[in-house]
Amino acid sequence: MAAKLPPFEPTPLEDIPAISGRIRRGFLTHKTRPIEFRTAQLRKLYWALKDNEDLIIEACKRDLGKPTFETYLSELYWCMNDIVFMQKNLSRWAKEEKAENISFSNKLMGPRIRKDPMGAVLVIGAFNFPIQLSFGPLIGAISAGCTAVLKPSEGAPHCAAVMQKILAESLDPEFYAIVQGAVPETSALLDQKWDKIFYTGSANVGTIIAKKAAETLTPIALELGGRNPSFVTKNADPKLAARRLLWGKTFNAGQVCVSQNYTLVDKEMLQPLVKELGEQLKQFYPQGARNSPDYGRIVNQRQFQRLKKMLDESKGKIVVGGTLDEADLFIEPTVVLVDSMDDSLIKDESFGPFLTLLPVNDLDEAIRIANEVHATPLGLYPFGSKAEMEKVLSQTRSGGATLNDGFFHATIPTLEFGGVGDSGQGAYRGKASFDVFTHRRSIVTMPTWIEALLNMRYPPFTEKKLKQ
Ligand code: NAD
Repeated sequence: MAAKLPPFEPTPLEDIPAISGRIRRGFLTHKTRPIEFRTAQLRKLYWALKDNEDLIIEACKRDLGKPTFETYLSELYWCMNDIVFMQKNLSRWAKEEKAENISFSNKLMGPRIRKDPMGAVLVIGAFNFPIQLSFGPLIGAISAGCTAVLKPSEGAPHCAAVMQKILAESLDPEFYAIVQGAVPETSALLDQKWDKIFYTGSANVGTIIAKKAAETLTPIALELGGRNPSFVTKNADPKLAARRLLWGKTFNAGQVCVSQNYTLVDKEMLQPLVKELGEQLKQFYPQGARNSPDYGRIVNQRQFQRLKKMLDESKGKIVVGGTLDEADLFIEPTVVLVDSMDDSLIKDESFGPFLTLLPVNDLDEAIRIANEVHATPLGLYPFGSKAEMEKVLSQTRSGGATLNDGFFHATIPTLEFGGVGDSGQGAYRGKASFDVFTHRRSIVTMPTWIEALLNMRYPPFTEKKLKQ
């Protein structure tokens, strides 16, 4: 029997100032600063995640048709592992650091960096990995000693409601709160004072957040979308490239910010790659993706219609897949051969299960196109010889990259993750999750007895002082 999910209820707008005020006052009690307090909260969150395992699985199924395996991998165990890693390392990271390479006299002043919490922070999540993208940054905020309000995505309402239950069962309400809702509620939150805003979502909304934060000079971290390129050269292994590119576009039905948006394929490799994409897809889903419990669904009608329009407007040729079912929010993994970088499937981030292939003459052309389409994507994925992959790295920019696979770099828990340029700013995961919510506060303690040594800094600046 399916687990009974709690209801999703938007937070009344009039309650939002009081909630943010409570969380700000909570910070000023200084109770969240001791490491013991932070680790105790993290431990409670860990067990509440574990206790609500069935609800998380059910909520991810209802919101995104997420296979249980993917929920374990990218939501539940992802967050639980992050907590364990934080717990293991927190005391070490939170320790003060001494200033390096200083003179003997400066040493006497004990110059050092304290690791202070930023303060009361706002975390805004996206829908595609609803638990991971909300609790992930929250774990960083708790670890750094911040108080926090979490605003999960209304696009995954069942997950948002389960997170509310988990938060209520585990975290101290004086210091951590959840606000539910969409644009009005998020806008009301942005009208409050924050010491940092951590936002994950589209670049359009990222711009709104950045503008609003600029009014009060509030620091921000932005984890945005990407039109990520992949490259398949004539020296790549077509079967391996096909399997790995398919993984990058079938996981979460392609609703992954770091998955490749388009693939630049050497003309010589096109036919072998298309053939392998078709064959490997059959191996993934022998009864077809539609009948497989291992393939998810598009999150809602709005996203489904956006993707359908994108495919309808494409001038490309569908060479594998192409079935859509509106009632079931199903879009088959679909390989499309396009001949222009202006194609609707390349121009915008698809954020769905389209594998768009654009044939190119050689790697130089591929690199030029990638730099023209979007110079600073979130991720980048070359397949080819070692030298070719290094060449791609040295002639492009991106938030991160995986050589010879889809978005694997984003799955390494201790590797910091973030964008560059218009794909985002500020990284997190591993130690970076602690750092992004931490202020490195420079401190010097001047001994009283040192006055005799420092007397020369005071006017009058006599001839004698100049000569010293
Ligand atoms: P979205 O921008 O629509 O929504 C994200 C959050 O912003 C939600 O919580 C939503 O309530 C809020 N929001 C929406 N409109 C708003 C407005 N006008 N004012 C204030 N707040 C508003 O994004 P999404 O559809 O949930 O996610 C898809 C996008 O997110 C894609 O572009 C994807 O690439 C990106 N993404 C990036 C990362 C990353 O880590 N870099 C991860 C996941 C998704």
